[in-house]
Amino acid sequence: MLNLVLFGPPGAGKGTQSAKLIEKYQLVHLSTGDIFRANIKGGTELGTRAKQYIDQGQLVPDEVTIGMLESEADKYPDAKGYIFDGFPRTPAQAKALDAFLATKGTAITGMLALEVEEEELRKRLLLRGKDSGRADDQDPAVIQKRIDVYRNETEPVRDYYMAQNKYTGINGIGTIDEIFDRLSNAIDAL
Ligand code: ADP
Repeated sequence: MLNLVLFGPPGAGKGTQSAKLIEKYQLVHLSTGDIFRANIKGGTELGTRAKQYIDQGQLVPDEVTIGMLESEADKYPDAKGYIFDGFPRTPAQAKALDAFLATKGTAITGMLALEVEEEELRKRLLLRGKDSGRADDQDPAVIQKRIDVYRNETEPVRDYYMAQNKYTGINGIGTIDEIFDRLSNAIDAL
């Protein structure tokens, strides 16, 4: 299996690149942000619970997120591999993901980390908020909170994969196609 973690701060382009990568490599896309938003839209209990955190730019608690991710992954028993987008976002999630994949006799192949500086992230998120209608992209205070949470809670996940020699940094500045080529080259070298 080819199991990739697509990593990076909010607004780095994970969703855009995932959509292109799943087509090229025939992988299943698991985006925790997308799954939360679908639950919020559908008015599920999980959605109601997650919304309180998302609206404030905070992480949804690990036990909620991990359980949800695992049951979503289990919906695709015949997958050739997965792209994890927006997950893991804490070291506890990363450990849980390793344990989960081990029960399936597989593992993370590599982490690809999109690197984009903060000023550019703020610009991109505000721009996305204008067309996507995502509430968490419209409030500069919520955007800043998400960037801060990323630095404090999520960046350590990078060290987790570095320690396993699975980390590859990718320059996230450029056209969508340029970044896609960089990612594809990195995947082909894994
Ligand atoms: P972005 O990368 O633009 O912040 P996402 O769509 O990945 O957007 O996530 C939106 C929100 O959903 C996050 O700010 C967070 O509140 C919640 N969320 C998504 N993934 C996770 C996760 N793995 N753990 C905890 N919370 C998450």
